[in-house]
Amino acid sequence: MKVLKFGGTSVGTVQSITEVTEIIQKKHSKSKGTAVVFSAMSGVTNKLLEAGQIAAAGNTGYTTLLNTLEDRHFEVIKALVPVKSQSAILARVKGELNDLEDFLKGITYIRELSPRTCDFLLSFGERLSTQMIAYILKERGLSAQYIDARTLIRTNSRYGFAEVNSTVSHENIIAQIADPDTIYCITGFIAADEDGITTTLGRGGSDYTASLVGAALNADVIEIWTDVNGMMTADPRKVKNAFSIPEISYTEAMELSHFGAKVIYPPSLIPAFQRNIPIRILNTFESSHPGTVITKTVPQKAYSITGISSIDDIALINLQGNGMIGVAGVSAKLFGLLAENRISVILITQASSEHSICFAVE
Ligand code: ADP
Ligand code: ASP
Ligand code: MG
Repeated sequence: MKVLKFGGTSVGTVQSITEVTEIIQKKHSKSKGTAVVFSAMSGVTNKLLEAGQIAAAGNTGYTTLLNTLEDRHFEVIKALVPVKSQSAILARVKGELNDLEDFLKGITYIRELSPRTCDFLLSFGERLSTQMIAYILKERGLSAQYIDARTLIRTNSRYGFAEVNSTVSHENIIAQIADPDTIYCITGFIAADEDGITTTLGRGGSDYTASLVGAALNADVIEIWTDVNGMMTADPRKVKNAFSIPEISYTEAMELSHFGAKVIYPPSLIPAFQRNIPIRILNTFESSHPGTVITKTVPQKAYSITGISSIDDIALINLQGNGMIGVAGVSAKLFGLLAENRISVILITQASSEHSICFAVE
């Protein structure tokens, strides 16, 4: 069994989706047992968010955004599905977009965009892209099946950043993904809580969906297909001479991704690590490049530094005062308060004099 995941840019255009279908076809013909996780088309999640914000302000200006979404999906369908079979999938996409429009209208009435409302709103992105690609694969003669991940991944109700119930999710995945001849096309990013309400796994969460599916199926490999040649020594958008890291350990990959290497969403490493399943990061636009493999142990590297990553929009806060010197419990009080307010701390330092504590938050 293998799990592939294609990110936003990989499913963003007619040309990239053509590449994607070829990769899937090739992989599936080589060995059966294929589950594929898809993100929303590039930029769609942000557009949905923007539409929600416009609606929450009581405006109906989101209709232009809806038209853009329709155009982008229709363009792909018209290019990649033969004319005689287009109507069913065009109608399905149109139906989803009509539901989306009704939903946005509802938001204009109540003028609120709670995290719960937002999760349902964002779920349209992955549902649209995945239904469309599953249909394209079927039209190519492959036995593809669409799966809405809300029937697979169970979470708590922390909307926007839900925590996964692995036991229930694993059972659901094993029960639904069983036929080696079928190519299962699964929506990334979205899940459902115990009441069946839509939740999301956090921005970039489709990687996590792939890892959860891979772990449940005890897959041989989880392949994360993106727009760069694997995990690199730095963000190639910022550092021109960054180069690919052929092999990296889960722990090092975790550190780099936590500190800003967006190429893999940090929580995704955990399910794979627990089952010792290698994660390969590959480039949809240069599919012959070996990319990066993330495993438990890696051989000694030529450089002692693996990579450099960075995070934007971080505040460093310094708490200091004579009253803190030698007083037990000051840090417990500070970090307890931050935890109570669900503020995640990225970095902590304390001077040995105990005169100050410095911490970084988003
Ligand atoms: P996808 O839509 O496929 O999930 P993302 O945009 O989430 O793709 O992640 C890929 C991007 O991550 C790359 O285009 C690159 O700009 C960025 N990135 C940041 N740091 C790194 C790094 N160390 N190695 C590779 N890519 C990185
Ligand atoms: N579409 C979601 C996002 O943009 C999830 C993902 O792409 O991984 O965050
Ligand atoms: Mg991503």
